Formats: sequence, structure tokens, C-alpha cells
Amino acid sequence: MTKGAGGPRSAGETHPKRPTSQPSGRQIAPGRPSLAVRAVEISIGWALRLTAVTTTLGTYAAVLFDLDGVLTPTAEVHMRAWERMFSDFLARRGDTRPYTEQDYYDYVDGKPRYDGVRSFLASRGIELPEGSPDDQPEAETVCGLGNRKNREFSGVLETDGVRAFAGSVRLLDQLTDQKVAVAVVSSSRNARPVLRAAGLLDRFEVIVDGNVATERELPGKPAPDTFVAAAEELGVPVDRAVVMEDALSGVAAGRAGGFGLVVGVDRGAGADKLIESGADIVVADLGELVTDGPS
Ligand SMILES: [Mg+2]
Repeated sequence: MTKGAGGPRSAGETHPKRPTSQPSGRQIAPGRPSLAVRAVEISIGWALRLTAVTTTLGTYAAVLFDLDGVLTPTAEVHMRAWERMFSDFLARRGDTRPYTEQDYYDYVDGKPRYDGVRSFLASRGIELPEGSPDDQPEAETVCGLGNRKNREFSGVLETDGVRAFAGSVRLLDQLTDQKVAVAVVSSSRNARPVLRAAGLLDRFEVIVDGNVATERELPGKPAPDTFVAAAEELGVPVDRAVVMEDALSGVAAGRAGGFGLVVGVDRGAGADKLIESGADIVVADLGELVTDGPS
């Protein structure tokens, strides 16, 4: 809707791609819509799109939910556990470049545990032996570091418990009323304990988690295979299924799988990056997709 807004363009005229990219102090040419007008046009376009998604969501055959950061605020728990583990690991090596939140979003978020370790280490040019999933958390191996992070995560889950996002539960209730099938697709091996702790375990007929992926040798996100497996298990073609994800890797998986709709949930990855990775629309909370609106 915003493309070409303001009528035909004269030769050599260039519109900024986004209103925010216009240098400050730049004059608006006569006849060109002002920044404010273009910003309003963009937000109207976005609102129409959100309304379209909200009203058509119930017509899809299935919705496949990521877990951490989409249904439960456990992304933050994972994030803290990763940070504690990697910061300690880097400090012990005498590496002064700190592990940052951006590292989490760029290399770790949404991926299977050991892939996350490998990906971050590669970004720092650090090589460790792979080890094996049976490695003790103290082992200086890819698997050892992954297990160390999991020990941190399980500790927090046990002491603090977990409560599902209220907006996500409302959307889940609505979809169940509309007879839309629902599944959880999570890279985490902790998906079932987290769902149980949040009181949601019996709400999903299909759960494709990190354990299922390992058993069936399915590559993790950003590969689409775990989402495709969930759709197959529900007996739903991918173009009739919706993917809901908060991680760039998960959104990319939804796009790569050819799903009917990919909803990005911005819990910190950034709306722009989620769109770049393949989200059709981005919301801040799933309550925005409930037909009677967020509350
Ligand atoms: Mg997630």
C-alpha cells in the first residue's frame, strides 16, 4: 500500500524506502507526501494487514507454535542461562569480548542446544571437540557446554516455575473453539517439562521437540523439517498451516517450509529482523490476534 504512494514519480525522483531513513533537515519536495503522511500510510497498511490476519486465522487448518518466547516467557530464562554459561566460559579462557544479548539473537535463539553452542563458538573463532550428549556439564566440549547451560535452565524452572503468556492462552482458547488443530514445535528438549509447568501439556495433540527431532534425525531450525513433521503428523498441508515464532531462525524455518502464514512475535529480536527473516506480520503479543482484540 505504501509502494508508489503519492502518485506517479517524475524522472530521477527518489522516495526514501522507509520514513525513518530520511536524513533530518531534508526538504520535502512539492507534491510529495510528507514524512508524517507516509508514516500514517504505513501504519494504516500494517493495521489492515493485522486485521486481515486476525480475521482469517481461524480458516487455517492448523497453527504450529514455537514454545519459548511464544507460549511461555521461557526465552528469557534460556537467555539468562546461556549468558551465565557463555560469560563464565569466556572469562575462564581470558577472552575479554563479552557475550551480548545480540549474540543470543544472532547465533543461539531458537536453535537446538548444541547447534547454538557451535554457532556462537564459530562466531568467535573458537573450536572445541564435539564430545557427546552424555558429557558431564563440566566438560570443555560443545556438548559439555550445552549440558552446562541446561543445568542452569532446569535450576531456574524448578525454583521459579513458569506461567504462560495470557495473550497466547487466549489465542489458544480461540483456536480450539474454532477447531483449528494446534501443535508445539520447539528445539528444546525441555518442551514437555515447560508445558507441564505452565499447565498446557494436554492442550496439544502434537509436540515436536528436541527429543523427537533427535529420534527422527530431523535437522533443527532454521531448517523447516520440524515444522513440516508437525504439519504431517496433524495431516495438514503446509500451506494450510500457520507458524508462530519469536526467533529469527524459527521464522526462517517457517518461510523455508512454504507455510501459509508466518507470524513473528517480537520479544526482542526486532520487527525489522523478523520481517527480513521471512515473517508475514509481526506482533508484540499473540493477544493482538484474538478477534475481540488484546486485553
Ligand atoms: Mg522461541
